[in-house]
Amino acid sequence: MSTFLMMPAVGSCISTSTLPTGAGPIAISKPVGQGPLARNIPDDVKTIQEALNQVTVKGVTGGPIPLLVVDGIKGPKTQSAILKFQQAQVRSVRADGLVEPGKQTILRLNEIDSPISKFDLNAKLAASLPLLRAALAAAIQNVTIVITSGPGTTVSAALAEDRLNRHFALNTIDASGQSNARVNLFETYSEMALVVNQPDLFDMFGAIDAFDVDPQNAKIALTTAQGVFEPPLKDGADNPARQIRLGLGFFAPNVSNDFAAFILIHELAHFTSRRDGELIIDNGRGWFDDVFIRPLSAAQRLLNADSYASFAQECRTGSAAKPAFVKTTPGGLGGAR
Ligand SMILES: [Zn+2]
Repeated sequence: MSTFLMMPAVGSCISTSTLPTGAGPIAISKPVGQGPLARNIPDDVKTIQEALNQVTVKGVTGGPIPLLVVDGIKGPKTQSAILKFQQAQVRSVRADGLVEPGKQTILRLNEIDSPISKFDLNAKLAASLPLLRAALAAAIQNVTIVITSGPGTTVSAALAEDRLNRHFALNTIDASGQSNARVNLFETYSEMALVVNQPDLFDMFGAIDAFDVDPQNAKIALTTAQGVFEPPLKDGADNPARQIRLGLGFFAPNVSNDFAAFILIHELAHFTSRRDGELIIDNGRGWFDDVFIRPLSAAQRLLNADSYASFAQECRTGSAAKPAFVKTTPGGLGGAR
């Protein structure tokens, strides 16, 4: 990390290593500070020391004066700096001297030091939308080939059918159920593609209009089931339920363009849900052969966001191997992937 000369509002120039702007969100793996939950992993402590110093450098109340030494050791000066910051800037919670991943104190540090803007959103979407469009088109093509040529009648239909069986367990239901499921998948992926390819059909000005930044969310993304059908305005203001809201996690450096496209398909699945009106939820997260996906029935997978994202991902890349960014977790409420 480079050393810069900065002039904080509180005095003359000081030498400090700073987070370059655009470095992405401030994130820690385990709590930093005091109390039984604190782990004070040196890299996390460094992140917090650096972030607290940035508060001072930016001239915002509540930063340490003098600046903390960024050494990864949680000593008394770092501890009192955490408390001082919470007392000045995190009034919604009791100042407990503890910074926890995804909680108010780190959200406030992010708001002050590393705010995510529409500019960041546009840059990230510009890089990932082509992959997203390609994945949706590939999914539609794979489903179409089985519908039009009949299951397994050609080499490509056999391959597409195998993908449908692995991701959606279609081979576990009867022939008419399979036929209905294929039509439903075709309609649902088509609807998702319409949101990004013909957003004007939904009274959106462009594909990016379907998305917004949610700096209050330390996780990756959040959306409303069938949100695309929500009214554009609510109480005279933009209706947040009508957008896929991308939190700090989406902008983290580990979110590659491939991963971003996967996340966006997952969220689009919730956002449009199924053409027949059924809600697409999170019955389990992961790749088709993961522990939390394997037990799911065809009906459950056909209502499962990660199954839609995984099938489209394989159709685009041609690889059945699980990408490293796909993690498996149980299902549950909450659209945050
Ligand atoms: Zn979800």
